[in-house]
Amino acid sequence: MTPVPVTAAEVEAARSVIAEHVVRTPVVPSPSLSHRCSAAVFLKLESLQPTGAFKLRGATNRLMALDEDERRRGVVTMSTGNHGRAVAYAAQRLSVPAVICMSRLVPANKVEAIRDLGADARIIGNSQDEAEVEAKRCVEEDGMVMVSPFDDPAVIAGQGTIGLELLEDLPDVDLVLVPLSGGGLIGGIALAVKARRPHARIVGVTMERGAAMYESLKAGHPVAVTEEASLADSLGGGIGLDNRCTFDLCRTLVDDVVLVSEREIAEAMRHTFWQDRLVAEGGAVVGQAALLTGKVTAAGHTVACILSGRNVDMPQFVEVVTGPGTGGSP
Ligand SMILES: *Cc1c(COP(=O)(O)O)cnc(C)c1O
Repeated sequence: MTPVPVTAAEVEAARSVIAEHVVRTPVVPSPSLSHRCSAAVFLKLESLQPTGAFKLRGATNRLMALDEDERRRGVVTMSTGNHGRAVAYAAQRLSVPAVICMSRLVPANKVEAIRDLGADARIIGNSQDEAEVEAKRCVEEDGMVMVSPFDDPAVIAGQGTIGLELLEDLPDVDLVLVPLSGGGLIGGIALAVKARRPHARIVGVTMERGAAMYESLKAGHPVAVTEEASLADSLGGGIGLDNRCTFDLCRTLVDDVVLVSEREIAEAMRHTFWQDRLVAEGGAVVGQAALLTGKVTAAGHTVACILSGRNVDMPQFVEVVTGPGTGGSP
């Protein structure tokens, strides 16, 4: 087995470091999904973080680890939105300057949210890779510290605190469905959960369009994928050809990766809205999509879906939940 680049002890340590800056989110039952799947299905509401997504955990843990010098020079990142927002929020709280580099694919609501948090939001190019070039320039020329959205032990440990909370609230959980992009979220959760429940299954779910980790695991090494617009825009972007942590973590700890289509993501957004009465972004409901389509069998299990964020462009959200196939009010 490949040695993992982050430990369960680092996840435990992150918990108290970030405690006063993040919300300890609730785990709520989903009666409709439980009924559909003949299982006990729960949702962990990371959408209730003050930035609307779980990424605040990892970003806060990383910024708390900066030394005096680094705090003065500031931090930089590139992001599809939620990570940039998290870094901006944590930076403002901790009085650290922040530059956020992002591509034109990022929805306007996310860009505005970052500017409102006082960060310097720079729009560069048509892909995360182009935004990365500017971020690297900030590191090399301006001496800023790069905060990766997923490929950093402190970020992964921060996201892993979700797993610790989950075990407290659902001690007999045996299947966790986690939205998957770069793999920081699932890597941290898998570390925390498997340390105490080695037989619990951790399944990553991502969109068919540009599934970087899925393709990389299949190839046996990190590969680049073409970025495409998706309802699950938070799951876009590559894993980095020079991936340090998350590829090995996923290869070692993730039991399976499942893909869902745009239509299936839309259906899960509608289900989450009309049945669970929750607003969630496309990338946050892929676990529910995997259950609704039967791509993951849950019968008889205690299942947790990580509802990872709510930062959807609201006109787009309204279009999806009132569109064809709408279940209507039960
Ligand atoms: C970033 C993000 C993910 C995926 O997290 P990774 O650590 O990149 O795998 C899932 N859902 C939302 C809402 C996100 O912002």
